Amino acid sequence: MTARLIDGKQISSAERSTIAAETAEFSGQTGIVPQLAAVLVGDDPASQVYVRNKERACQKCGLKSTLHRLPQETTQSELQQLVKQLNDDPAVHGILVQLPLPDQLDAIPVLDAILPAKDVDGFHPENVGLMLQGRPRFLPCTPHGILRILDHERIETSGAHAVIIGRSDIVGKPMGAMLIQRGADATVTTCHSRTKDIATITAQADILIAAVGIPEFVTSDMIRPGAVVIDVGINRVNDRLVGDVHFESASGTASAITPVPGGVGPMTIAMLLRNTLTAAVQQTR
Ligand code: NAD
Repeated sequence: MTARLIDGKQISSAERSTIAAETAEFSGQTGIVPQLAAVLVGDDPASQVYVRNKERACQKCGLKSTLHRLPQETTQSELQQLVKQLNDDPAVHGILVQLPLPDQLDAIPVLDAILPAKDVDGFHPENVGLMLQGRPRFLPCTPHGILRILDHERIETSGAHAVIIGRSDIVGKPMGAMLIQRGADATVTTCHSRTKDIATITAQADILIAAVGIPEFVTSDMIRPGAVVIDVGINRVNDRLVGDVHFESASGTASAITPVPGGVGPMTIAMLLRNTLTAAVQQTR
């Protein structure tokens, strides 16, 4: 079997056109331009690229994006002071603090300090709780992007066995929570670093989602023939980006697969724009 390539770039481009049209309509009616404030601490090269891509994507969709750069040696209170300032600024609708933060900083109190109404990453405990109860204010961007991919590709989730590798707060855990909600109706198994005999479990998946952070961790023997494989991983190996799935071998077994780059990544950005527009609409009501 040769897997169908799922073109995340193309799906996200269609999604961004819709967001641009809705933003133009909103701004035309209210005179308000939705604004995302991104906070970047230090000089991690990957984070700089991510933030730049997010800024560009905002601008192309008619959203305003402002970047707040803080030096590597920023203190916890300086960072939280900036978050407070952005919380208090009525022109800012969404706040994003780019992770990871330098070692001296604790991300949890920073993310907790973001006003839930402006938490466009969907990481605040209030928003996580609402999402878990199936009444989300904002859906976290990466799992939301994956659901949009599955929907766009008409991949049936109802009754499907979805196996997720990874239990992070930003991908694995919310992905599982979203796939078992009414409407998605999947049966979910979550694997992690202590899971035994992982290949036996992944080989039962109708939909296999890899968010492990280990280059090419998933190989064809771990995939049920005909399964859909979603590769969340972004790993830099010898200046090349590779996913958490061994693409060549997996393509011979799966029925459909997302590439890296050009799969989940662009969808994550599109969903961030969607949340920023939603935040502006909600704050304007
Ligand atoms: P993380 O690094 O926080 O956690 C990795 C998870 O993998 C952990 O839950 C751990 O239990 C599990 N794991 C580690 N070793 C394992 C093993 N041997 N067997 C089974 N499970 C194991 O993960 P994250 O932040 O969710 O990121 C995962 C990957 O996704 C990274 O490559 C990251 O760069 C990428 N990512 C991509 C996007 C995107 O937009 N495409 C967004 C977020 C993260």
